[in-house]
Amino acid sequence: MKNKSYISTVVANWKMHNDFNAALDLVIKIFSYCNMVKNVEKIICPPVVNIIPLYDQFKNSTFSLGAQNINENSKGSFTGEISVNMLKNYISHAIIGHSERRVIFNESNHTISLKAKALLDNKIVPIICVGEPIDVYKKNKSVDFINNQLFEIFSEIQLNSEIVIAYEPIWSIGNKNPADPIYVEKIITKSKDFLCTLKHLRNTNLKFLYGGSVSSKNVLDYTNQKNIDGVLVGSASLDASEFGKIVLQISKNG
Ligand code: PEP
Repeated sequence: MKNKSYISTVVANWKMHNDFNAALDLVIKIFSYCNMVKNVEKIICPPVVNIIPLYDQFKNSTFSLGAQNINENSKGSFTGEISVNMLKNYISHAIIGHSERRVIFNESNHTISLKAKALLDNKIVPIICVGEPIDVYKKNKSVDFINNQLFEIFSEIQLNSEIVIAYEPIWSIGNKNPADPIYVEKIITKSKDFLCTLKHLRNTNLKFLYGGSVSSKNVLDYTNQKNIDGVLVGSASLDASEFGKIVLQISKNG
């Protein structure tokens, strides 16, 4: 059991799954498994169209609502995009810089930095994803790669509130190839040290999560590490009973 002075965080990233009826059904089931858990911070990020319709369900729950992405601009001619302003009354968090956005939609660290700033300006907590591709991992260059991501994202940003960083090695996502917890702890420890040298973090509530094939079978291997403050869950968050088990295990483990 880890002696923490704060509670662990679990983020569910539903990606592009579930129409409204399926999302509502999943929320009701997940709440029945773990809405009573108060010692774990629980954030669900459904597809954006489901955020406002689900808001009333979340209002009286122990869960928070988050977005999976936002546009960095406050308004304008950006067809198909959604600004923080449009969501800020409904969400507390937003994932930005997920590797799928970086790889499929060519998002750069610069864009992610602008998104982080837009969120922080609106008092929404950014959940900023970083992580290396397989070739970088194989060359043993992960620390340099992630430090560079952190440098490019954070150099221009004032940090004095709450931020969450999700370390998600790209090769560990969605393919049942979870990263070794000791390796993750090492990378996160080095990333925290790097960020502390880069920025004054005295007034910042900084959390580091791990994401990549997390399940009820391996979650405690990560959350029991000293510097891993929680998990970001993709596939397993679409299964109410499995997601409930993940939350309950962290809750029982302290
Ligand atoms: C993710 O896509 O952010 C993720 C962690 O997915 P999975 O849990 O399916 O690996």
